[in-house]
Amino acid sequence: MVLCNKCKSKNSEIRIEYARMSLCRDCFIDFYKARVQKTIEEFKMFGKNDRVGVAVSGGKDSAALLHFLRQAYPNLELKAFHINLGIPEYSAHCQQKVEELADMLNVELHVFNLEKELGITIEDFKKTPFKLKICSVCGTIKRRVLEQLAIKNCVQVLATAHNLEDVLSIMLNNFLHGRWDEFIRLKPVLSPLFENMALKVKPLFKSSENENLLYCVYNNIPFSEAKCPYAKRSSLKKRAKILEILSKHNPIFKHQLLKRFLEIMPVIEKIAQKPELTKCKICSFPSSSEICAFCKRIDMVKKAGKT
Ligand code: SF4
Ligand code: ZN
Repeated sequence: MVLCNKCKSKNSEIRIEYARMSLCRDCFIDFYKARVQKTIEEFKMFGKNDRVGVAVSGGKDSAALLHFLRQAYPNLELKAFHINLGIPEYSAHCQQKVEELADMLNVELHVFNLEKELGITIEDFKKTPFKLKICSVCGTIKRRVLEQLAIKNCVQVLATAHNLEDVLSIMLNNFLHGRWDEFIRLKPVLSPLFENMALKVKPLFKSSENENLLYCVYNNIPFSEAKCPYAKRSSLKKRAKILEILSKHNPIFKHQLLKRFLEIMPVIEKIAQKPELTKCKICSFPSSSEICAFCKRIDMVKKAGKT
């Protein structure tokens, strides 16, 4: 048995290869919390008087984020936002776990049910040209609904649980498709596009999904282990596999890539074309065309439902 490299008294349970450390449970939790806290402080993600909305899907990453924020900032005004996507079985299970979590942490929960509020579900997009790109349309819908929830609940900051692998997979995808303008969305802190909107932050962008999982398990945090039936079709999952292969022989690969990415972000910002924004004619949200992507997709799915 190897002793924990930090406390040197308990047996280690986890090997953090990229940091060349073997840690016991308690020291791992301290290590995890210290890094998330440092990330929040380094990027000035929120202040102690801000009202912070947290997007909670029911999975391990967002469960870890909400738990961490509640424990580390007990006086912070927190609100949890959950979107029920209407995916049979999966969505009901996720909502149940989110309710359990919010109850346990005593955090106000706001659920947006797509079927009740908009009369559609993510499943309905199977009848549209998006049938092979469900994750792409789901992303557009989720981003907008979260923005709406943030405005409705008057939060200044909207925190999402993008983890290290999420950020790198999106980065790789954008790179392979030459989508330079979309790199900007990966910044750890995104300024609001219009005045009434919230600052968007990613406190877990340096934390790997395995570390988020361990944090949940060690703290007995309720989370859903169910996989969305569309996840395997997602191109981001394929990019994530490439990252795993590259990390196999180089444990610090992902962290190196993230570091370099942050370094070149100011250059990317300069070359990325910033679209002229106007107000969508239907919903008044920022849009680069008369009708925004969200409204176009809602219109499309509603028309497909009538055929
Ligand atoms: Fe939406 Fe795709 Fe995620 Fe499922 S896997 S919740 S469809 S983005
Ligand atoms: Zn619109």
